[in-house]
Amino acid sequence: VKILAIESSCDETSASVLVDGKILSNYIANQTIHEQYGGVVPELASRAHQENIVPVVDYALKQAGIRKEELDAIAFTQAPGLIGALLVGSCFAKSLALALNKPLIAVHHMQAHVLANFIEDPIPSFPFLCLTVSGGHTQIVRVDSPLQMKVIGETLDDAAGEAFDKSAKLLGLPYPGGPLIDKYAKQGDPEKFKFPEPQIPELNFSFSGLKTSILYFLQEKQKLDPDFVQHHMADICASIQHRIVSILMNKLKKASKETGIKQIGIAGGVSANSGLRTALQSYGEKYGWKTYIPKFEYCTDNAAMIAITAYYKYQAKEFVGLDAVPGARAAF
Ligand code: ATP
Ligand code: MG
Ligand code: FE
Repeated sequence: VKILAIESSCDETSASVLVDGKILSNYIANQTIHEQYGGVVPELASRAHQENIVPVVDYALKQAGIRKEELDAIAFTQAPGLIGALLVGSCFAKSLALALNKPLIAVHHMQAHVLANFIEDPIPSFPFLCLTVSGGHTQIVRVDSPLQMKVIGETLDDAAGEAFDKSAKLLGLPYPGGPLIDKYAKQGDPEKFKFPEPQIPELNFSFSGLKTSILYFLQEKQKLDPDFVQHHMADICASIQHRIVSILMNKLKKASKETGIKQIGIAGGVSANSGLRTALQSYGEKYGWKTYIPKFEYCTDNAAMIAITAYYKYQAKEFVGLDAVPGARAAF
């Protein structure tokens, strides 16, 4: 089976070719235009996707050595995401499916983040728990089969990626600040500054209080030392990262305990965070979990995760018509 998958939900234009369950190419064009605005500007994202989509798809096919006539199906991200961005990928995929007379597969972006854990061996067995942490979502997902999954906990306000990015902004770091906090944290002391851990019921999360406490903390410190941030960047970043990671890991531990599931993975952009990756491994050793972390390039937005999801949908004959419409929000 040869599948071409397209991802365009936010600010990465990506295309991937999968052949018989193996990823042969995964080309990702990042949009740098948003840096100067401190966040993704939806209108600019749509325009950049429009410019990138043809060369990105061409490149992914070339790299895989596959001609488009050989494809068995075309897959695209249907939801959730920025609607103008999703429209570019979905319209392109539909046109291609129509022109080539091939079946079309619609993929849920958050389901695909979870299934990034199934791209390379060893893959999890079922049931499997996945902590999906990205720019717009923070979810604990119970996965009973590749296409059967349920959100059993999620954030009540900001996503974990947002918590990283908003904290970084308070420190004067450019967008997206998550990777920069990770970088500075490597040289810092995670116990140096204490930020509170919120008490949120069940398996849910909250990160808006953390942002506020960091703001007050910085205001207080800057009264005495206006250059406090410059002087303590590594320790502040390490302390913030430590708190975000402990909030995530404590809920994951609770979820494992309540469900009895010990096959545990992470997914989404924040799963690229070195503190979270290390924490998952050490919790795994301590609690006897079998842990899974996708390869770095499959953590942030990419079309390979759309392709692997489409591969399962192809086997289940889950196709959609040309009338399939993208959605900004969607449950699964
Ligand atoms: P969603 O998947 O919820 O629609 P998204 O697709 O924009 O959102 P991703 O691309 O999966 O999100 O992830 C982007 C987020 O990951 C950003 O918030 C970014 O700061 C964060 N991130 C990426 N690398 C790291 C890292 N090393 N440490 C912390 N955060 C990181
Ligand atoms: Mg992105
Ligand atoms: Fe994403």
